[in-house]
Amino acid sequence: MPEQDPLERIRNFQEVPYGYTEELAMKEAFRCLQCKDPKCVEGCPVNIDIPWFVRLISEGKFIEAAWKIKETNLLPSVCGRVCRQEDQCEKRCIRAKKGQAVAIGALERFAADYEREKGDLAVPEIPAWTGRKVAVVGSGPAGLTVAGDLVKKGHRVTIFEALHVPGGVLMYGIPEFRLPKRIVAAEIAYLKRMGVDFELNAVIGKLFTIDDLFGEGYEAVFVGTGAGLPIFMGIPGENLIGVYSSNEYLTRVNLMRAYQFPECDTPVLRGRKVVVVGGGNTALDASRTARRLCHVDVTVVYRRSREEMPARKEEIQHAEEEGVKFLFLTSPTRYIGDRDGRLMKAELVKMELSEPDDSGRRRPIPVAGSAFQIDADVVIIAVGNLINPLVPRTSPDIEVSSCGNIVVEPTTEKTSKKGVFAGGDIVRGGATVILAMGDGRRAANNIHEYLKNRNW
Ligand code: FAD
Ligand code: SF4
Repeated sequence: MPEQDPLERIRNFQEVPYGYTEELAMKEAFRCLQCKDPKCVEGCPVNIDIPWFVRLISEGKFIEAAWKIKETNLLPSVCGRVCRQEDQCEKRCIRAKKGQAVAIGALERFAADYEREKGDLAVPEIPAWTGRKVAVVGSGPAGLTVAGDLVKKGHRVTIFEALHVPGGVLMYGIPEFRLPKRIVAAEIAYLKRMGVDFELNAVIGKLFTIDDLFGEGYEAVFVGTGAGLPIFMGIPGENLIGVYSSNEYLTRVNLMRAYQFPECDTPVLRGRKVVVVGGGNTALDASRTARRLCHVDVTVVYRRSREEMPARKEEIQHAEEEGVKFLFLTSPTRYIGDRDGRLMKAELVKMELSEPDDSGRRRPIPVAGSAFQIDADVVIIAVGNLINPLVPRTSPDIEVSSCGNIVVEPTTEKTSKKGVFAGGDIVRGGATVILAMGDGRRAANNIHEYLKNRNW
């Protein structure tokens, strides 16, 4: 897919890949073999009928292709951009066995963008109101999917969102150059047109509890509050000025537009030497954001080797093209500040890989006597997140696991509290957009059954 030149793109926040033209999309779609037993579909967590939508593209029926995808995926323009197709549908594509998989993600993005830009985005016919009200807590991909599916079944749905902008990580976490905000905003506008209500700045657990929502006449509640609580490493110096969690850093830039400070209220330190700790998508999003903000030295420090990095390959490649440096098999041990508490240096230690741990990946252990220091005036810590604890803490009758995640029945998304369902990262810990959406779809079906069968 054609892309912005790296030297150009580090000076702006615009999306990196331009997307297919109609000709390129049709040419790529023709590569699909229309397998009788399509393995790509088995690799898709929401079982999109991939050969069918790809065939529609090859026939020039782009809007029909988008409709086909939307039968199983509410947010194709999002998933076409951020899903790990290389580990899912494209990994199983028969074409991948002898060459390159069909670019299923890029085709999904093309069809959804085409529909948004050229189609009339007609709202489906909504059945008469069933008389039932459902509250959805959190407006990330899990909550949006539940809401979309339930209004289509005739229920009245209100999404309660803690932030002033809906969309969850899609809005505050994933940067503009990977997922333009206007695309998420368009999906949300579409849900509003379908009749979903949004209550913003509404922190459930502070403003209302789950029981309060039942008291307000909601008959079922879906909790999709995500995993937004940053993990720190507990090493000295994490309180120094200049040390951020990736959540804070990305939220300041994405949501609060810190790159426009002082026109916007929220600043962010730009720095001369930026160190990002971690190896996942979040670390790479933070490093690429820092490169764009200040065009300075940005180094990602990761405790395992390149092969073990959980980030998408495409992102690693994009970061390298943009001049982000990598220190593999390295981990911070402390941060050193000046007298005013401002970060000056990071002390790092070399690591080596020992036997595989529970995750199946080889466990990194420090190499004795290998500590060294590098200059750093901004450190961004991206080593993972825990779930947002407020809802489980204020509803103690919702069962949680030893690490605090909400426990659900795997096939129904039911929690231990009657009428309360949950899904997405609050159940799985930090996972993926498509898994959150899959949970949302299952929960919506089961909430619908619950409302139908309940003895009133
Ligand atoms: P979230 O998206 O976290 O949404 C939860 C929402 O609930 C938030 O809006 C939050 O404000 C709100 N909330 C929390 N507490 C309350 C409360 N008490 N009351 C009301 N509202 C509340 N996944 C991919 O598949 N591909 C990627 O490329 C990718 N990149 C990522 C990059 C970053 C920087 C991050 C952080 C994550 C990334 N992920 C990616 C993971 C993916 O975004 C998440 O798995 C997904 O967003 C989880 O969806 P969710 O609906 O469960 O929660
Ligand atoms: Fe087409 Fe590949 Fe799916 Fe076969 S496996 S139907 S070639 S996308």
